[in-house]
Amino acid sequence: MPEVPSPKHPFQASSQDAEGYATLSTALLEKYSTRGPRYTSYPTVPVWTNDFDEKHHTEALKRTNRPDYNGHQADFHGHMPFSIYTHLPFCEARCLFCSCNVVITKQRDQAKKYLDYLFRDIDHHLPYLDLSRPVTQFHWGGGTPTYLSPEQMGDLFAFYKERFLFSPDAEIAVEVDPRVTSKEHLQALREFGFNRVSLGLQDVEPAVQEAVHRIQSADMTERMMQSCRELGFGGINLDLIYGLPHQTVDSFKNTLEVILKLNPDRIALYNYAHVPWMSPHQNLIPESTLPTGDVKLQIFQLGIRTLTEAGYVYIGMDHFAKPTDELTLAMKEGTLHRNFMGYTVRAGQSDLLGFGVSAISDLQGYYAQNHRKLSDYYDAVDAKELPTMRGCALTAEDKLRSKAILSILCQGELNRPALANAFHCVESELFQTEFKALESLAKDTLIEWTDTGFRVTDLGRIFSRNIAMPFDAYLKPETTSVNNDSKDAPPMFSKTL
Ligand code: SF4
Repeated sequence: MPEVPSPKHPFQASSQDAEGYATLSTALLEKYSTRGPRYTSYPTVPVWTNDFDEKHHTEALKRTNRPDYNGHQADFHGHMPFSIYTHLPFCEARCLFCSCNVVITKQRDQAKKYLDYLFRDIDHHLPYLDLSRPVTQFHWGGGTPTYLSPEQMGDLFAFYKERFLFSPDAEIAVEVDPRVTSKEHLQALREFGFNRVSLGLQDVEPAVQEAVHRIQSADMTERMMQSCRELGFGGINLDLIYGLPHQTVDSFKNTLEVILKLNPDRIALYNYAHVPWMSPHQNLIPESTLPTGDVKLQIFQLGIRTLTEAGYVYIGMDHFAKPTDELTLAMKEGTLHRNFMGYTVRAGQSDLLGFGVSAISDLQGYYAQNHRKLSDYYDAVDAKELPTMRGCALTAEDKLRSKAILSILCQGELNRPALANAFHCVESELFQTEFKALESLAKDTLIEWTDTGFRVTDLGRIFSRNIAMPFDAYLKPETTSVNNDSKDAPPMFSKTL
């Protein structure tokens, strides 16, 4: 292991801005401004293959029922819980920043048809699952789940309740767009048992909202949050995005002030991924309107400072939660997990079943993604098959690297003896090349060496993706450079900063 240097202040590589706050040096910014995965999975989606088909998917599902599966039987008495994610893809209009797999339509009968297929998709999974296993986490995302009418949502929820055993303390969450969600929607969701809502807001500035084609006043968001509270939803999340067109440090100050008045339980502050080669509608956002890398980083740092000074705890790389929130407690206890839904509390101890078009299942050692195109999804369901488009069976090395990357992104540390012990490796031989690659990050105070490995510094958390990247065995240097962009070979990943 490299020599342990004397502790340094995490913002040592910085200078001061006009208000006396720490800012990063341009050199540091340029050095770490690369492209890279967000690591909602490892191996990342570009590594998955179409060779992983329906047969592999069904085998992976069946394997999860075994009591000795993955060594978890001691915790769950043979009943490894389920997390269930349902993708509801419809939206009335496209927000330009969005890279989700959505279907834009005002034809409501499309939702009726989709539900019919979704019901059959779910039923096709059932023969492979032990249905005595409890559901501890349940999430509707999209798209816009409240594109469905309250009656359609009721039918869908009842369908699940008839088939799965919900744990009494299950987290039952839904993404809500205040622009299309009525009081009736919220009342219905609460009656069904939903206890957590996530509201997208992104930014309150009119110029930013206009540029991304999403007009949503702060009043509208406030009214929706008020209704959620009156109805007794236990947790309210708000999603913000930094790096959007026309955002400035000053404009984002205003957004943060409004957010603090709204007082959500959790805040996600996502990095805008400008990936027009993957989401061509983003070509409508002129690059000249996007904040430069250093402004973007100042906005993010402003967010971290403002939210933590207001009492929120900084979680992982981009989440904030109140000190008593489950997410905060999970981070302190080392049980925080990261998956396709972002940071979660329970996902690390369950199998994630993804239902609906493009949904991803994470079966602890296997990833499977459903078809992304609606027509392909419908064809597979008509053929009475699981709608598997691609997937991945993790090797022993993948699992080790996945654990290391999760530990960096969730716990902000890497404990080499603990990993060597868990994966039966020789500690001194583990990650020698990766640790060598991190020496320059240690010099820049993004990490600090410890007796057991390293810890990510406060400054380093902003660069978490860069710190994780040396542990990714599939990442090729040409896919991470920001200088290789060309029309013939579009980049694979968004910028890390
Ligand atoms: S941000 Fe939400 S409402 Fe907008 S296009 Fe994406 S999924 Fe639809």
